[in-house]
Order: sequence, then C-alpha cells, then structure tokens
Amino acid sequence: MNMNEGDDLTGVEISYYFICKTKLWLFHHNIQLEREHENVKIGKQIHEDRYPRVKKEVGIRNKMKLDFVEKRDQLYIHEVKKSNKMEKSHLFQMYFYLDYLQDHGVDVKGELHYPELNKKKEVELDEEKRKELNKVKEEIQEIVSDEMPELEKKRICKKCAYQEFCFAAEG
Ligand code: SF4
Repeated sequence: MNMNEGDDLTGVEISYYFICKTKLWLFHHNIQLEREHENVKIGKQIHEDRYPRVKKEVGIRNKMKLDFVEKRDQLYIHEVKKSNKMEKSHLFQMYFYLDYLQDHGVDVKGELHYPELNKKKEVELDEEKRKELNKVKEEIQEIVSDEMPELEKKRICKKCAYQEFCFAAEG
C-alpha cells in the first residue's frame, strides 16, 4: 500500500473495524450516531474527572481527535479509554495516529490510559505493526466499498449507539 491509499480513513474507522464491521460501514457512509450516546458521554466525563488540567481533544484535520498531547523527551499522544476490553481496537487506532504523524515527519509515541483500571500502556509503531495496519486499512477499503455487511447480533449490540438503527424492527 502506498502512503496515499487509505488516506480518507479516520482513527474512529480503524477502531470500528475491530468492534463491528457494520458499525464501520455505517460510520463511513455518514450514518453517525455516536456523539450523543450515553457511553460516549460517560467516556468524556471520565477524561474530564481524571485529567482536568490537560488540554483536551486535539483535532488533526478530520482524521483524529487525540485526547491530549504532551511533550516529554519527545512528543506523546494520549488516548483515555473506559475499559481495556477492546484493547486491540485501541492499539490499532493509536498505530494509525502514529503512522499518520510519523509519515508527516513528527517524531511521536503514544500512550493508552485506562484510569478505571489504574493502567497505562506505551505504544510504539515498528515495521511489523505498520504492515499489519496497512493490511487493516486495505480490508477496511474493501468493506466500505461493498454493500452494508449483513447484520449479526453480538453482545456489544446492547451498548451500541446503533442498536435502534440495526434492530429497530425487532422491537
Ligand atoms: S448494534 Fe450491533 S450490529 Fe449494529 S452497529 Fe452496533 S455492534 Fe454493530
């Protein structure tokens, strides 16, 4: 994959790839219901309670919304998450951010924070991870350029902002 392929993707889509392909497809096609959902509000509240003094939500074009950015020996970008149940999606979202920034000449590392678990994890991007990320980007392009994936009920549907959209007919 060259540097421009997958350039229209966002960090949110990378994370949805690991959560639900339908959610990824809906979001990519501008059917976006996440902003007002209760779980999103809870996530924002955790961030505000735990990190009141840091500058919040640094947006870079429409590709990424970083929870906060910090300069130590080098630049660090931070993401604050409610739980680590979806750690793979968090990791690849962070790889995506690091890849984008490094491709634009920024020397950067990442850190994932799980304040509810008192846990944090430093994230670096190496060649192996970059290859895996490129494969994910290719698969996302295939999914979003096809028809909407067939609906498949999962445990996470109960807490998903799209639940009513996906399963309204079932009452
Ligand atoms: S409700 Fe379920 S199937 Fe629909 S987008 Fe959410 S997780 Fe995916």
